[in-house]
Amino acid sequence: MAEPIGIVTAKDALFAATRRLREAGIKGARLDAEVLLTHVLGIRREYLYAHPEMRLDFNEYERYQAVLERRLTRLPVAYITGKKEFMSLEFTVNEHVLIPRPETEVLVEEVVSRIGTSPPKDNLKDSLTDSPTIIADIGTGSGAIAVSVAWFLRTADIIVIATDISANALTTAQENAKKHKVDHMVKFFQGDLLCPLDGEGLEDKLAAIVSNPPYLSRRAMTAVSKEVTQEPEAALFGGEQGLDFSLAILKDARRFLAPGGFVALEVGHDQAGILAEFAKETLGYGEVEIVLDLAGIERVVIARQ
Ligand code: SAM
Ligand code: GLN
Repeated sequence: MAEPIGIVTAKDALFAATRRLREAGIKGARLDAEVLLTHVLGIRREYLYAHPEMRLDFNEYERYQAVLERRLTRLPVAYITGKKEFMSLEFTVNEHVLIPRPETEVLVEEVVSRIGTSPPKDNLKDSLTDSPTIIADIGTGSGAIAVSVAWFLRTADIIVIATDISANALTTAQENAKKHKVDHMVKFFQGDLLCPLDGEGLEDKLAAIVSNPPYLSRRAMTAVSKEVTQEPEAALFGGEQGLDFSLAILKDARRFLAPGGFVALEVGHDQAGILAEFAKETLGYGEVEIVLDLAGIERVVIARQ
């Protein structure tokens, strides 16, 4: 009688993998084990749930053990699978970019709703030249913000300028713009914060400047998980108090904002108050708002010109 093809069922492989990850102290072990197995098998999770008795062949089993070994080094799952969902879009990620976080979706939603609902005559367009609405994403990383803003506003006449200090990050962001077919709407510039905007004739032209800058303080950097330590330090560390980039963006943004334009920043859990006050009292922004994330944390500061 022929031997059954395959050496172990998906269910048993998952059970063993979950135990290994859990014993190594990895939170969310079961979910990680499932995501990595579906990645190796090239199937969806729904298929795995429907066919727990499917067998892994030797090659699949070996590949699954290899990815588990990588996860046991605390490499984030998204770096192993090479992808992460953000705003219901799949982003390619790698060790050159921050893995997009769910809290950043709040920032994107705020920007999309503000730009998308502006009435046509007042939507920051120059009605004489009928030029497009321009939005800049500073420190674009994987392009999570720039690409999703472009995607959700793809029927509008907008241009997104995406900048980063890292050439490798920009390559990844470009790939994501192509993947979601918004590459015609996004322009990429390498350089320090708003410097790439200089000399482009963009003074007083931008409807919004959006950024999730590096904002962890020196102290916060010492408290991050082992997974986060594998993300680029340049994407996380925001100087002694974590405020260096946020303050610099708020200061420089003013000369690029069109009348009625706004800066929208993602901020650390204890930074919104100080940044909102700085924007209003020191820099003289007209209207400043703080938006909470789904966990009720003050996560986004919006300062209108
Ligand atoms: N926007 C992405 C997101 O929300 O997922 C990535 C945000 S990550 C927290 C910050 C990004 O800023 C990184 O991609 C990093 O390379 C970039 N960055 C760091 N210093 C910078 C600088 N001086 N000028 C421009 N970008 C910078
Ligand atoms: N939210 C990230 C973290 O806590 C930090 C991202 C950032 O600095 N912008 O790991």
